[in-house]
Amino acid sequence: MSFTDKLQSTTMKNTGGGVTHDESGKYMTLTVLGTRGSMAVSAPGMAKYGGNTTCYLIETPEEAIIIDAGTGIMNLPDIQRKRISLLITHAHIDHIMGLPMFLGKQAGKEITIYGETRDGLTIKEQLERYISNPLWPVTMDEYPVKLTFKDVASNSSAVNNTDTTNSVINNSQFKIGDVTVSTMPSNHPGGSTIYRLDYNGESVVIATDFEHEEVTASDCSQSTAAGNPLARLTAFSASASLILYDAQYTPEEYEKCRGYGHSTYVQAIELAEMIDSSILLIHHAPNHDDAFLDALQAEIDQRAAGSDGSDTADSTAAHPQISLARESQIFIIEKIIHKNV
Ligand SMILES: [Zn+2]
Ligand SMILES: [Zn+2]
Repeated sequence: MSFTDKLQSTTMKNTGGGVTHDESGKYMTLTVLGTRGSMAVSAPGMAKYGGNTTCYLIETPEEAIIIDAGTGIMNLPDIQRKRISLLITHAHIDHIMGLPMFLGKQAGKEITIYGETRDGLTIKEQLERYISNPLWPVTMDEYPVKLTFKDVASNSSAVNNTDTTNSVINNSQFKIGDVTVSTMPSNHPGGSTIYRLDYNGESVVIATDFEHEEVTASDCSQSTAAGNPLARLTAFSASASLILYDAQYTPEEYEKCRGYGHSTYVQAIELAEMIDSSILLIHHAPNHDDAFLDALQAEIDQRAAGSDGSDTADSTAAHPQISLARESQIFIIEKIIHKNV
């Protein structure tokens, strides 16, 4: 099976906006609320891919699950649900920057915030470092919202687990309504959580702030690869319908930034070659404007098409199987089994 054939066996349907959940109830939908990594940007040449930091909304008819609370969380549509779940990957500022304003606009809602304990701090304690004086004028308890916090585990033993075939089983799992959430530890300075959401036979993996190589030295110019986080992610993502993958750097930039905790589209292509999943590239660098990202998409199309020796470079035009995420996109997460597979 060629690379292109593999990609065509999975589809992402952009609903074109307006609908933020699949009314048939069969599929999850994904709304891209913020694509940018590290810091928010605002400039005329940034509007296409968006300047807000990382935030994604996954919906079923019953559940609204938000991944991370970057400035993009202010783009959340009026989802008319009383109950909202928020999965925090880690508390780096680009992932929580939108939370203080967001909570102020959710009066009467029941919001459950999930995240891992880090540095001995529960997820609530981590967020309170930001939402408290003198950084912010109100405390967490003063919002007119029913807030619940849940600390989750990502089974750190899996970090050293060389048997990648059963990573999904080894990692912790919990339910949010009719959605099963699994976690695995990311490879990122200070730690981050990779979430997998399964619903009705479809699944989405959010691998933001993920570096594909284990880096041992703090001086990135001297560092060496000492492990294979990409193999662990591949096992964790087995049969996923869609993977959101950190592609903050170009391959050239990555050489200067080993150990910073981010990856490139080259590994996304590797991942797509190994498993039958569509990939949405996320966490765009703040200095990559629309023209740069358009050129990068063209390069990705060319590299992806060329990986099996074919010269069909238009795979993402009709089927955005490896594509750079753009703010405000809405996808139905649906994996179609290709008849020829
Ligand atoms: Zn980040
Ligand atoms: Zn981070």
